[in-house]
Amino acid sequence: MTSGAVSIRQIYKAYGSYKALDGISLDIAAGEFLTLLGPSGSGKTTLLNVIAGFERPDSGSLLVDNTEFIARPPHKRDLGMVFQSYALFPHMDVFANVAYPLKLRKADASTIRSKVTKALETVHMAHLAGRRIHELSGGQRQRVALARAIVFEPKLLLMDEPLSALDKNLREHMQVELKRLHRTLGMTTIYVTHDQQEALTMSDRIAVLDRGRIIQLDTPRAVYDSPNCKFVAGFMGDTRFVPVEKNGSDFALSGRPLKVRAAPAKASSDIFLMVRPERLRWHGTPERDNRIEGNVIDVIYLGDSHMVSVELPQSTEISIRHTGAETTSLPKPGDRLALWMTPESSVIIDGARS
Ligand code: ADP
Ligand code: MG
Repeated sequence: MTSGAVSIRQIYKAYGSYKALDGISLDIAAGEFLTLLGPSGSGKTTLLNVIAGFERPDSGSLLVDNTEFIARPPHKRDLGMVFQSYALFPHMDVFANVAYPLKLRKADASTIRSKVTKALETVHMAHLAGRRIHELSGGQRQRVALARAIVFEPKLLLMDEPLSALDKNLREHMQVELKRLHRTLGMTTIYVTHDQQEALTMSDRIAVLDRGRIIQLDTPRAVYDSPNCKFVAGFMGDTRFVPVEKNGSDFALSGRPLKVRAAPAKASSDIFLMVRPERLRWHGTPERDNRIEGNVIDVIYLGDSHMVSVELPQSTEISIRHTGAETTSLPKPGDRLALWMTPESSVIIDGARS
């Protein structure tokens, strides 16, 4: 019985002296939706290509359902793959594109007809089965690519930035659809993106990559709320870092003691309070909450709200949204402003990289 559990052990891959993958180990449960998230050049595509078999690593092991895959050619790995560029066959129609993997597997005509139809229905493209690829929009092409990747019911689905060529509305729509598709079909999915919002929306777990290493591997909530270093904290959301002082095991901001939910066990001298717009409050209680004071430097109209930027000492800048529902009126540039954070949303981040 194959179920699609993946175990990656100590994968290294260098291009010349550059370490594209620098000791990657990762276990992915059967049926899990795991996202590789990281900036451009962090090794996401290289890792996906190692899993797909397009790239042979210098060393390491890749087990799929406890079978060693590292030397197995791509076509014998039985996995579906979707790329950023659709990689469809332009001279074939939609049906023939989706039928292709089944033809390779020597499926008979009636099996091909029923499976292709089902896959096209899954991605809402059955009505366009006879269309040529160049007659399709970007979103429709990506649906065809997806149908082609799932038509042979692989245990493993790999996707490399599949939505990044689409505009924002369509991308968000497709995110929801992909998530539903995963829930329905249940195959193990390894998804690559550089977009943190996309990773947070779609994943069971996120592996944050930087320079060929996994920096943090956790649920979206944990990666967002409890980042393990400044790199991860800065990569997730609109994050600002406010320098704080350290007194023994306590922290202080402009001399005022801070009440915090989390702090690194052994902090260096380079330490910050992690501040995001949605964590700041217009009101607070001095005995309970943390007070942050500064000068308003910008008030920007966003349609549904205003973004108010506040400069703190040491020229750190933080921002808070004003929605109009607050009892506080909208401040103006030059105003002195006191903002608040609850202890539960106050997290200390060590700037030193482990
Ligand atoms: P990502 O997908 O995260 O943007 P990649 O995995 O494509 O990153 O690349 C990781 C690093 O390896 C980059 O610095 C890239 O330039 C380098 N790299 C990737 N493929 C090759 C190759 N075939 N030859 C040389 N360098 C490569
Ligand atoms: Mg890439």
